[in-house]
Amino acid sequence: MKTLARVAFALGGLIVTACASVSSEPAPAPEPATTEWRLVIHGGAGVILPGSMTPETEAAYIAALNTSLEAGAEVLRAGGEAIDAVQAAVLTMEDDPLFNSGRGAVFTAAGTHELDASIMDGRDRNAGAVAGVTRVKNPILAARAVMDKSEHVMFSGNGADQFAEAQGLDMVDNSYFDTDWRRQALERVLTERARTAADRHGTVGAVAIDRFGNLAAATTTGGMTAKAEGRVGDSPIIGAATYAENGVCAVSATGHGEYFIRVGVAKTICDRVKLAGEDVKTAAGTALGEVAALGGDGGVIVIGGNGEYGFVFNSAGMYRGWIDASGSGTAIYGEGE
Ligand code: ASP
Repeated sequence: MKTLARVAFALGGLIVTACASVSSEPAPAPEPATTEWRLVIHGGAGVILPGSMTPETEAAYIAALNTSLEAGAEVLRAGGEAIDAVQAAVLTMEDDPLFNSGRGAVFTAAGTHELDASIMDGRDRNAGAVAGVTRVKNPILAARAVMDKSEHVMFSGNGADQFAEAQGLDMVDNSYFDTDWRRQALERVLTERARTAADRHGTVGAVAIDRFGNLAAATTTGGMTAKAEGRVGDSPIIGAATYAENGVCAVSATGHGEYFIRVGVAKTICDRVKLAGEDVKTAAGTALGEVAALGGDGGVIVIGGNGEYGFVFNSAGMYRGWIDASGSGTAIYGEGE
């Protein structure tokens, strides 16, 4: 039976936690000709401590993670492609106000919402991203449209919303993204003039491998509570929060975006796998160690060309889950697994 096992080791002065799929059964039979499909998701990292939420809220997060896993797994189980699976998994979380990615996104300092998203196909490293969108209901669909329907990789601001609208995507008033609890978080940050990792968790992401061995990654966020208007984090930046290359790895990151941009986390991980021959969890631990050494926190989900996967983070918790043909699992906190 598969379980989520956790190993912790010190990197950059902070504890990095890695969760990996392990089996208590004898060594598995050699891989069949077709690749096993697998989907790994996150719903953000931050100060998420046991006891910090009610049992009902905790159950709601687990249910939301399972809904996302099932949406992506449905695609992969039917022989669909990794790129469609990560999109489907992210989409359900964008629609769920528990997460900081669509409805339920954090507020900017000006009391509005500016959303970022990116998606990447490991087959040809085609990618699409939007930054600072304010009206498109599902930013990940806008990012996908940029990838599929334009000759560009990234659109920002009003032009990105206009592009999404021209593609026929659902558009909403910016107030659609409002939730009371995120407004309270804004007021708290503005009053205390202190932003913590507790005020931004809920970014969502997914990585997947399909039966053809294709890798894909996707990430969406509302950013950080009380962010300055126009601030863009790592989530829409290919190579920072999102990266996928067949045979190498797929990554989706969450955390204090400025540090993830400075380290180029997602590309660093894939380069270490590709050029140094590291396994995905070791490479992710090294990149997260660089983030930690600079003073940043957060986490990544990674999946390799051989289907090996991991959750690596240096924050107190990360909403996360995995699913494949053998089963599924979810977790929130950084301990007790
Ligand atoms: N990385 C996101 C940003 O900096 C926030 C997060 O993942 O929590 O915009």
